[in-house]
Amino acid sequence: MSWREILGVTSSTEAPYTHNSQNAQKTAELGNCADIANSAYRNSEQQSSKLLESLSDACRGLDITPTEVKEALAPEDIEDWHAGTISVETMATFAHSLVQRREMKQGKRPDHYTEQANCQHCGPIWSWFSGEVLGCPWCWNRTADKPIPRPCSVRCSDCIHFERIDHPHLGHCAKGEPEAISGLWDTDRHYCERFLPSPQQANNN
Ligand SMILES: [Zn+2]
Ligand SMILES: [Zn+2]
Repeated sequence: MSWREILGVTSSTEAPYTHNSQNAQKTAELGNCADIANSAYRNSEQQSSKLLESLSDACRGLDITPTEVKEALAPEDIEDWHAGTISVETMATFAHSLVQRREMKQGKRPDHYTEQANCQHCGPIWSWFSGEVLGCPWCWNRTADKPIPRPCSVRCSDCIHFERIDHPHLGHCAKGEPEAISGLWDTDRHYCERFLPSPQQANNN
């Protein structure tokens, strides 16, 4: 994952980050990038301490460590940094984005995600933009089977997780969302972080 990809996903004009998490979650997929980076780089010890020094400036005031940011950098990012083509400001924006992504992975809506949008794959989502999209910042949560906070209520009849029983309206949630003994009513509206639109529903939009 390159910082360009990450910054491409998030807005570059973000609201100031506000502290609300002390959670130091480890991100396994970013660790792989670090391995590649390490093997790709010679003199890594000295280079790395220079990089960490610079990253500690970038991390100032953020709930993330320079090492965590370094591990998230792609090998080409680190090369760019050594070539002097990435500024501390860019690194700071990158660090900020990482903090935000970490919180989003935990199902937290970033403060500046105040608009309601609809992702074809995720359904109704919070975002900094409104409208219909084919992919969104919450798609990661969807593919990783993590909850997605919702701006509105949804209906089980529109959800891929709804398993109908031998009844015109009743069924069960394959994701184990809370339900009455009789099950869930397909057209009842409710808040659900596990909702995913059925293809049929997406086509109807
Ligand atoms: Zn999405
Ligand atoms: Zn549901």
